[in-house]
Amino acid sequence: MVSYLDYLDESALPLMWCPGCGDGTILKALLGAFACLGLRREEIVVVTGIGCWGKADDYIRTNAIHGTHGRALAVATGVKAFRPELTVVALMGDGDCATIGGNHFIHAARRNIGVTAVVANNLNYGMTGGQYSGTTPPGSRTSTSPYGHAEDAFDLCALAAAAGASFVARTTVYHYKQMERLIVGALQEPGFSLVEVISPCPTYYGRFNHQGRAREMWRSLRERARPVAPGPGPEDTSRPGRTGQVEADGGPSGGRPILTGVLARNRRPSFSERYAEVVRAAQAGATEGGELDAR
Ligand code: SF4
Repeated sequence: MVSYLDYLDESALPLMWCPGCGDGTILKALLGAFACLGLRREEIVVVTGIGCWGKADDYIRTNAIHGTHGRALAVATGVKAFRPELTVVALMGDGDCATIGGNHFIHAARRNIGVTAVVANNLNYGMTGGQYSGTTPPGSRTSTSPYGHAEDAFDLCALAAAAGASFVARTTVYHYKQMERLIVGALQEPGFSLVEVISPCPTYYGRFNHQGRAREMWRSLRERARPVAPGPGPEDTSRPGRTGQVEADGGPSGGRPILTGVLARNRRPSFSERYAEVVRAAQAGATEGGELDAR
């Protein structure tokens, strides 16, 4: 029986994350999803960028590439395009995915490349000291907005669905079983899949916004989560209108609900399927002399 421990590099422990951070829980759910599917380690490529969650590859015994900031999806796209049979996962924080890497994110979804993005959204850049990111809610206090943030936030799930992702889901670190189940679903998706995990950063975001200690932040996730009705079938088109804006609540028990579950499905041919057709057409064209005349 395969266990999550088969994918964990215990020699790298203890984890580097702060007490109360959600990243360790996401790591266990990811490895648990690998175990649920019985994936062989050599079939998996984990690509990370820079940030607290980007350190996850230190603890994983699969193929791994630690990329540069915002470029995890660019690297993952290259791996998947060249080796479509591999399971390719990109681990990013909100700074990595929605801010510095925002362009790669929308194009991975548009291209429908078969990569699973597991995004730890803690509403700020944790590793570099709590600066605001593309998902920081308006009004939030961060190290770069000490009097309140003057911008609106991306809704990552709505963005991915609108750009054409095949599978879009959201959960929180409090909802471990749901998180593992959603990652399993995402890993089975031939096209681009996103699992956004709302995760507390008590060290910076929580402290700057007076959200209490880690315990209160986790309790807030439990209270604010609203599971959507069972998701539409695989043939249904995406419904970005079903996605909910993740918003700062200004306190551990108030604030807007967080919609969780599969928020959008848009089953359509993946990049790998379409590119294989192009290759077949090119090979047939080369045989039949049917290449474009560029003169
Ligand atoms: Fe987690 Fe924030 Fe600490 Fe980074 S700084 S490890 S996101 S709690």
